[in-house]
Amino acid sequence: MKMKPEQLRLIRRQLSTLCERSPFYRTKFAGLDLDAVRSEEDFRRLPFTQKEDLREAYPLGLAAVPESEIVRIHSSSGTTGTPVIIPYTRQDVTDWAEMFKRCYETAEITAEDRIHVTPGYGLWTAGIGFQTGAELLGAMVIPMGPGNTDKQLQMMMDLRSTVLCATSSYALLLAEEIARRKIREKICLKKGVIGSERWGEKMRRRIADELGVELYDIYGLTEIYGPGIGMSCKYACGMHMWDDYFYYEIVHPQTGEPLPEGEIGELVITTLRKEGAPLIRYRTHDLTREVPGDCPCGLPYPRIDIILGRTDDMVKIKGVNIFPGQIDELLRDVEDVSSEYQVMLDHLNGRDIMTLFFETGLSAKADRRRVEKAVQVRCKEKLGVTVTPMAVAIGELPRSEKKSTRIFDNRY
Ligand code: ZN
Repeated sequence: MKMKPEQLRLIRRQLSTLCERSPFYRTKFAGLDLDAVRSEEDFRRLPFTQKEDLREAYPLGLAAVPESEIVRIHSSSGTTGTPVIIPYTRQDVTDWAEMFKRCYETAEITAEDRIHVTPGYGLWTAGIGFQTGAELLGAMVIPMGPGNTDKQLQMMMDLRSTVLCATSSYALLLAEEIARRKIREKICLKKGVIGSERWGEKMRRRIADELGVELYDIYGLTEIYGPGIGMSCKYACGMHMWDDYFYYEIVHPQTGEPLPEGEIGELVITTLRKEGAPLIRYRTHDLTREVPGDCPCGLPYPRIDIILGRTDDMVKIKGVNIFPGQIDELLRDVEDVSSEYQVMLDHLNGRDIMTLFFETGLSAKADRRRVEKAVQVRCKEKLGVTVTPMAVAIGELPRSEKKSTRIFDNRY
């Protein structure tokens, strides 16, 4: 994204005192002349900030304000080693709520809505972000958190929730449960705000159809406030990014070099206003691309595509880089194939084997062989790789309330 003059001004303001305020950046940028950063090109020469760097700052090494100004901390999931702790000032909390309110407004959600929040509450940023933004908007929040499907559906019916906030896998689980229990007429949902993970077009269509709602994508990550820093509008052509609060770049995941507009790469974010823990050129590991041109909705904020995958999910098989978004994309066009799939990678007799499990509504053996063949042809065309296709019945692949892993690499 082309750096705007206002963004450059905020970045220079940030850099002018950053090393005084932040012990983390004092070490990281030691020996660099930050006053010499006067243009986008200069800025792009600064080193990236990586998640591993943030881990080393555990617990409060990222703080760039005196402790008395920190009003809250959040933490990104510590499933792989030391967690990352992000401190927030009062202004950070306010800014995040403002951005989140803007997300709801972008989806034309109003104070009349009843917002059913299923993402979790606690150390991580999800639930509370959805809640504070909705309260600022003036809507009624139903702070469910995840799990307990019976209670979710009961509250959804009794309180007449109009907006569902969920991960895509949890929204799908609820949609399937509503269909199974035949309670669709008692559900008043109109909109779904779906966050935090990559999801395919088929899954989207199934959730939208079964719940009878319009779906919106919300973007964010704990290190940069949390969810709510970008949102799709009713035209569903990418997510608008609130570039008055941060500057983003899309770079080549391996080389870190900037990519031409429209090419898929890794999203890198710099905060412009964050006080508690400002971040410079933070690598999100999310794969996306810039959406060129203006949006028909008229919002002045630039757009990125919905998240197409994670650089960490990218696997190399037979010399080809593959990420889950590509598999979603190619399965979308094959008739009789549902949205759920799983990839198993194995190494047998000196060769890599890629097995692609997918769900289909077809049960006759001959029909399944036919659709397997179609999937195989499609993979060869799109990925350049020969896969072993395995059709299974709808519901046979695992559903989860958490981010679902779809590629399993058993080769090493
Ligand atoms: Zn728009």
